Amino acid sequence: MAETTTKANIGVVGLAVMGSNLARNLASREGNTVAVFNRSYEKTETLTSEHPEAGFIPATTYAEFAESLTTPRTAIIMVQAGRGTDAVIDELTKVFEPGDIIVDGGNALFTDTIRREKAVRETGINFVGAGISGGEEGALNGPSIMPGGSAEAWETLGPILKSIAAVAEGEPCVTHVGTDGAGHFVKMIHNGIEYADMQLIAEAYDLIRRGTNKSPAEIADIFAEWNKGELESYLIEITAEVLRQVDAETGNPLVDVILDQAGAKGTGAWTVQTALDLGIPVSGIAEAVFARSLSSKPAQRAASSDLPGPSEAWTVNDPDGFVEDVRRALYASKIIAYSQGFDEIVAGAEQYGWDIKKGDIAKIWRGGCIIRAQFLNRITEAYDENPGLVALLTAPYFREALEGTQEAWRRVVIAAAQGGIPSPAFSSSLAYYDGLRADRLPAALIQGQRDFFGAHTYKRVDRDGTFHTLWSGDRSEIEAVASH
Ligand code: NAP
Repeated sequence: MAETTTKANIGVVGLAVMGSNLARNLASREGNTVAVFNRSYEKTETLTSEHPEAGFIPATTYAEFAESLTTPRTAIIMVQAGRGTDAVIDELTKVFEPGDIIVDGGNALFTDTIRREKAVRETGINFVGAGISGGEEGALNGPSIMPGGSAEAWETLGPILKSIAAVAEGEPCVTHVGTDGAGHFVKMIHNGIEYADMQLIAEAYDLIRRGTNKSPAEIADIFAEWNKGELESYLIEITAEVLRQVDAETGNPLVDVILDQAGAKGTGAWTVQTALDLGIPVSGIAEAVFARSLSSKPAQRAASSDLPGPSEAWTVNDPDGFVEDVRRALYASKIIAYSQGFDEIVAGAEQYGWDIKKGDIAKIWRGGCIIRAQFLNRITEAYDENPGLVALLTAPYFREALEGTQEAWRRVVIAAAQGGIPSPAFSSSLAYYDGLRADRLPAALIQGQRDFFGAHTYKRVDRDGTFHTLWSGDRSEIEAVASH
């Protein structure tokens, strides 16, 4: 019998949990045949034997993998980010040809993607950094995908990615974000917003629990109720489930059994580091990253546990009213987190020359990914109505939402401060909001201080130019000098 000549239109390299699930997702879609390769062959064998229905074409070497693909060859790498990705790219560029496409679907730092794209482009091969969100479940059933890379690569890749992406309101959650590292940049911001969203939800839970003495199961009901309104989102939905879970061993709420030290894989920190470089205040995201760091400092926490706090135990007088205030504070702070994230996208696009359509980004986050939420439709609408919107908060819908929430938000932050309940994301978001609103900021005093100790100069409100004051000595010596 003649050897089978069936080739694959798409390949996956790296068959740990994400790669295996993505390969199965690809294979389940009409028209796809999937080649699979993993550095150690056992994983390839396990996947192909456990899923004969997928019709995978397994390869034992990179050369065999390349041989099993139709041209232009298209392969998605799902390996450990960093050195693993570089190693696979090296191997693939040896066996691929100009016009072929290498996609990195891992969680790469966008500057690495920019570097890799440049290097791979020199071989004539297309390199696409694609952010893939949704974890294991998303990879299997439909993730939100944020590909960068060239328009040429998108032509081949677009239909394949559309076939496996989540679908929200009839539209696949994937769009060509921009060139080179744009996709991984936007995925990074997605994760930063995810950190802020999770921290805000955690603060809401903590305030309600400590302010009203409700049980985790009762608070689960509150979150389930919230999920029917403007806060409807995957994170609110799973929060209700987490709070409802009972530990099989002790019979206690599982949330009380879990050690209160939050882990992180680094994408939140990248978002903040990049924001610092770009000069964008993403304070909600930064507080969320720092809150995880603080939680994971047991020695400092233990040493500080008897520091003075409020003298009286804190509870609220009107539990129902307080719960509603917290809901509003959560919504307002969430608007801030997304607004800050989009500000960083705008700044990144400007810095790196990407033409990123903000409304389309909000759209592809509506399904498949961790921050999927009803509310993203409002962001899309805001940017569709006004693509040049300088601050998301000022779009009519969000202005109105803030009008309806800001008083409750203030009450919650005051209550948290009085009760000694840490609420870094709620309170920093409010401070950011008030900072943006302020007619005049004490930045003027900072400029004065800077000029005093470092002759850093300042500008004046009443005329153009740059000024320096001779601060020392008696008043007669103080003068302002204009320079060009
Ligand atoms: P992982 O644990 O990050 O990586 C394991 C895979 O990388 C294995 O297939 C391993 O091959 C391969 N690998 C490591 N070094 C290699 C090298 N030098 N050469 C060739 N292959 C190498 O796997 P994962 O959790 O499935 O994640 C894959 C990617 O998706 C990562 O970038 C991750 O950040 C990203 N991601 C993960 C999630 C998630 O929920 N897990 C969500 C979104 C994105 P061997 O079997 O031979 O060791």
